[in-house]
Amino acid sequence: MDHRIPEVLIDAATIQQRIQQLAAQITTDYAEVTELVVVGVLRGCYLFVADLTRQLQLPTRVDFLSVASYSTENKAGSVRLLLDLRTDIQGAHVLLIDDIIDTGHTLNYLMQLLRAREPASLKTCVLVRKELRRKEPIEADYLGFDIPDQWVVGYGLDAGDRYRTLPYIGVLA
Ligand code: 5GP
Ligand code: MG
Repeated sequence: MDHRIPEVLIDAATIQQRIQQLAAQITTDYAEVTELVVVGVLRGCYLFVADLTRQLQLPTRVDFLSVASYSTENKAGSVRLLLDLRTDIQGAHVLLIDDIIDTGHTLNYLMQLLRAREPASLKTCVLVRKELRRKEPIEADYLGFDIPDQWVVGYGLDAGDRYRTLPYIGVLA
């Protein structure tokens, strides 16, 4: 079992401060809609969705889906849906929330999947982005932080399913 304590990359207070700013921006941008449907990508999003949605001053529904990503040397990342939404999003204002955007394969796949269901609008909110790694032409509408290309853990993010519960984002030294 891995007992290393990750080095802090983004501390808990900085994360919470940024989430407050994002929530204020989202609240302003969606002020005119009757309801926002937040779609979280399990499992890495669970703390981000919990903290962000509690700061939204909007009528909000929350639902989740789950995916598995595979990428090998010779095959570009393929993504498979493991758990689908319970909410019918046709005609809804949907905000897709993911923990991290790396190559962009996951978000790209999910945007196509959800767009096919004809929501009234579809935007993305991502906590961290590895700026140098983008392979798909996809950008988040709302972004928390840009980070260097390192494996990060904490605040929902895992390494072998560990470290998700840390209140900060860190790197394994
Ligand atoms: P993508 O390459 O499709 O943009 O990202 C695929 C998925 O890999 C992300 O949703 C996330 O679950 C995972 N991932 C990518 N980089 C990291 C990282 O540094 N740490 C953790 N814990 N997960 C990551
Ligand atoms: Mg993920």
